[in-house]
Amino acid sequence: MNIKTKLFLFATAAVLVSCGPEKPVVENTTSGESVKTNTVVEKAHVVPPDFNADSAFAYIKFQADMGPRVPGSKSHDKAVAYFEKYFKNLGADAKVMGGTTTTFDGKQWRIDNVIASFNPQAKTRILLSAHYDSRPFADKDPIPANRTKPCPGVNDGASGVGVLMEIARLLKEKQPAVGIDIILFDLEDYGDNGDPNSWCLGAVYWSNNKHKLGYKAKYAVLLDMVGAKDAVFPREGASVFHANDVVNKIWNAADKLGYSNYFVYEESAEMTDDHIAINKIAGIPAVDILHYNYLKNEFFEHHHTTTDDINTIDKKTIKAVGQTLMEVIYNEE
Ligand SMILES: [Zn+2]
Repeated sequence: MNIKTKLFLFATAAVLVSCGPEKPVVENTTSGESVKTNTVVEKAHVVPPDFNADSAFAYIKFQADMGPRVPGSKSHDKAVAYFEKYFKNLGADAKVMGGTTTTFDGKQWRIDNVIASFNPQAKTRILLSAHYDSRPFADKDPIPANRTKPCPGVNDGASGVGVLMEIARLLKEKQPAVGIDIILFDLEDYGDNGDPNSWCLGAVYWSNNKHKLGYKAKYAVLLDMVGAKDAVFPREGASVFHANDVVNKIWNAADKLGYSNYFVYEESAEMTDDHIAINKIAGIPAVDILHYNYLKNEFFEHHHTTTDDINTIDKKTIKAVGQTLMEVIYNEE
């Protein structure tokens, strides 16, 4: 679909909205005369708490300082324990859940997905997610000797988690009208470049074995590589296909807050990421906020290299992502 078609569809949608249900009629009798005026009852806008980028940065740095959270490593286990305790301390119903899986290289792994539910009684729920594992091999590093070393996984992993940890802290400060579930997925990044099905094993496992029988969410948002300087988040193909209303909601909120330089209008191709399983297996409309250079057709500069470290993180970018998500979830009901 080209841009012109999209603009036409947008114009059509606007016309349809203006032909919507009849507006309520209010009698105005203060002047003595009965005057009928049409008033539109608008939903009150909820001002969410301020997303603190310094705080989110500290959560990202804490993970970076643990070293790569590669499956089977001490840093991985330490990170899992840290996340679970962090969410429990905020009063969430938090647990580590998962089973076992085999990666493309024939190795067996335990899956440790960290799941935290806030306001678990609320019927309407929004699912927020990111992966926390680090890729075991920096196979896109420009220096060949580095390609068997693990990735620091700071933008690719820790950034999304850090943003969600800061949102979790704010949920405790002021509760939104909906329930929020946060899932930190394991084993997203242990894939083979030639096989799209070898990635996202934590999300595939959860989508087949949800943490609660009959679990449903209104929609899901996935964060991946959301911290680099001048990041661009095009409207990702599978998100547009499965959850276009949610894409519009998020990108419009970003635009309203002045972040349209990050949340760009252009559409990218479908990306292999955790949201595919959430959309196709779990059946929950899921949107991926993912740094992708749609002009060059590549991920962020340090993707799957040994230089995806804390120096890649820019507080302005994490503020844009965090505040946009806050705007969206606090205005859900
Ligand atoms: Zn990755």
